[in-house]
Amino acid sequence: MDIAATALAIQSGDRRALARAITLVESARPDHRAQALELLAALPKEKQALRIGLSGTPGVGKSTFIEAFGLMLIAQGLRVAVLAVDPSSARSGGSILGDKTRMEQLARAPAAFIRPSPSNAQMGGVARRSREAVALCEAAGYDIVLIETVGVGQSETVVAQISDLFVLLLAPAGGDELQGVKRGIMEMADLILVNKADGDLAAAAQRTRADYAGALHLLRRRAQDPDGYPLAMAVSAYTGAGMPEAWAKMQALAAWRRENGHWDLARAAQAKHWFHEEIRQNLLASLMAEPLRGILDGLGDAVARGDLRPELAAARALAAMGRG
Ligand code: GDP
Repeated sequence: MDIAATALAIQSGDRRALARAITLVESARPDHRAQALELLAALPKEKQALRIGLSGTPGVGKSTFIEAFGLMLIAQGLRVAVLAVDPSSARSGGSILGDKTRMEQLARAPAAFIRPSPSNAQMGGVARRSREAVALCEAAGYDIVLIETVGVGQSETVVAQISDLFVLLLAPAGGDELQGVKRGIMEMADLILVNKADGDLAAAAQRTRADYAGALHLLRRRAQDPDGYPLAMAVSAYTGAGMPEAWAKMQALAAWRRENGHWDLARAAQAKHWFHEEIRQNLLASLMAEPLRGILDGLGDAVARGDLRPELAAARALAAMGRG
């Protein structure tokens, strides 16, 4: 790959070049990795998209919502990229977003770019690749980068560390219980959107919205939140009801954070987090590679047999890593 030419093509809005570049950052091959780092370094850093993390369990309407929301943004003249962080597909090797029937209209829009989730990757790897894919989309001039994840716990933390805003999508609840949403995920959310507020579900959606508004109210307000946030709203991806209002609330929050310095602080903290995470991942990978892996396995077996004391084995392991 011609790195300089690819960097220029990405910046000129060439979607195929962007897709190829994302494939490059997703590759684990060492030569691809070196090219990926070169490419990322060749891209300008000044462009910033609004990165919106979006999470929700399967069936809440994420793809329907993203399609409607994305088309609304495009109608306002914005360019929209959609990426997926999906640990379950990482396990199965398949991809929920690879399903061609999802987001058909948005996928056809020239101002949109939709990227399925990376396959055959471990969670740490997915995180790195998604973050780099976001950087590529920013360099390509997308105004909004939507980062979608299936709500299973672990992936939200990753997505929150890549996003400027975090949106939790929920469905109307049947009973009056909060739908077992983990407190940690609630605390991450800037906006809770109760989808399917239409037809027979409209009243239930409003009740669920009120329940979550109450629950959010009990959570301590964070320094990076203005009055009224985090908030819960009802939307319908079918009818579009509540969508412009939700978008207005996202924009207002982003603007407030920019004006009050929280945006830059958050991005700086994220950059530092990923610096440490990258080191951690690389160190772990080097431990899992031969010859070190064999040495560690052998020492572990010796400890288990009682032939070697754990602290002595650990000292030998560290010596083998050049840190004894
Ligand atoms: P995902 O698994 O979170 O991506 O959910 P989908 O977008 O595939 O939607 C799951 C189901 O909910 C589908 O049958 C949709 O047609 C339906 N759905 C999505 N959005 C809405 C909505 O706003 N209102 C109603 N009534 N149904 C919706």
